[in-house]
Amino acid sequence: MSATSSESLQILWQKRPFIISGPCSAETEDQLRETAFQLKSTNRIDLLRAGIWKPRTKPGLFEGVGAKGLAWLEQVSNETGLPTTVEVANAKQVEEALKHNVSVLWIGARTTVNPFSVQELADALRGVKIPVLIKNPINPDLDLWTGAVERIAGAGIELIGLIHRGFSTFGETGYRNNPLWQLAIEMHLRHPDLLFLTDPSHICGRRDIIPETIQRAIDLGSDGLMIECHRDPDQAWSDAAQQLTPLQLQQIFEKVIWRKVDSSSSQYHTALDALRREINQYDEEVLQILSRRMRVAEKIGQYKKEHQITILQTARWQELSRRVLEKSEQLGLTTTFLTQFLAAIHMESITHQKSVLDQLQKKS
Ligand code: PEP
Ligand code: MN
Repeated sequence: MSATSSESLQILWQKRPFIISGPCSAETEDQLRETAFQLKSTNRIDLLRAGIWKPRTKPGLFEGVGAKGLAWLEQVSNETGLPTTVEVANAKQVEEALKHNVSVLWIGARTTVNPFSVQELADALRGVKIPVLIKNPINPDLDLWTGAVERIAGAGIELIGLIHRGFSTFGETGYRNNPLWQLAIEMHLRHPDLLFLTDPSHICGRRDIIPETIQRAIDLGSDGLMIECHRDPDQAWSDAAQQLTPLQLQQIFEKVIWRKVDSSSSQYHTALDALRREINQYDEEVLQILSRRMRVAEKIGQYKKEHQITILQTARWQELSRRVLEKSEQLGLTTTFLTQFLAAIHMESITHQKSVLDQLQKKS
């Protein structure tokens, strides 16, 4: 069978929610086929994924079956009618994947991080008409992620998508890869025209928190998901703890509230426009108040200078923070938010006081 036609890929790219699923790794032809047929029967899957070459943290672990898995994938795609996607990390892998009519390529997190590798992929893709999905780099660097988009777009690839799969952090966060949702939102806003998917499997690293993570992604406006499924997850040769059975995926999907990002109904727009105007108004007031607050801080800076008092008054700041945090419940704001908000105000306040001191010092 020939690769999926470019018209059907264009249509596929518009599908919401856009769902990619399949095993972390192709292990055997039978495992791939059975998993694919079970996924097909959920009627939810747009693209079948399977890792063929696996970038593993440590040597000696299962590193994928290699090119022979592409022949299985092609065969299973023909049998199920599902188009396919694989991860590619170098030019040779691109060449092999194209030979086996893979419909979409994806660039993994460990590759996005390396501009040499991304450029090698871009050069291999020049003149090829195939969609490419780009996972975030493992480190939380949006410029690096955008750089990868620019390299791939520069090679003439028209259909590009982003996959948010969380970021490596040191220490325990409860996630395998910290989602840092605010970065995902920022990236989505930077590239509003690109398909934006979430990979809850690699964010979570464990099955039990996948449902709430999917809901969070959808609530934040994700266009869809890349999610790992295996016919027998506990026996998987890679990422066993995070894979679901296709039936579990179906059960989770039945409970998800699939939100619409936007609606064409005029009633919806009128209601939302009024609320947005209200928000804009509040934002304006908050900013005006913050500005007035900083003017007061500057007066304090002046007083501190005249009386040789240090800018940082720890006891005063602790008392202020305690007073505000005690009100968090009454205000309906989380203590995490208030703590970060106060810290940011404090830093800005110190900057203003310091600039007052510097000015006075210059004058004297
Ligand atoms: C994968 O999707 O199996 C994979 C290796 O993911 P990531 O690049 O996000 O680590
Ligand atoms: Mn995996």
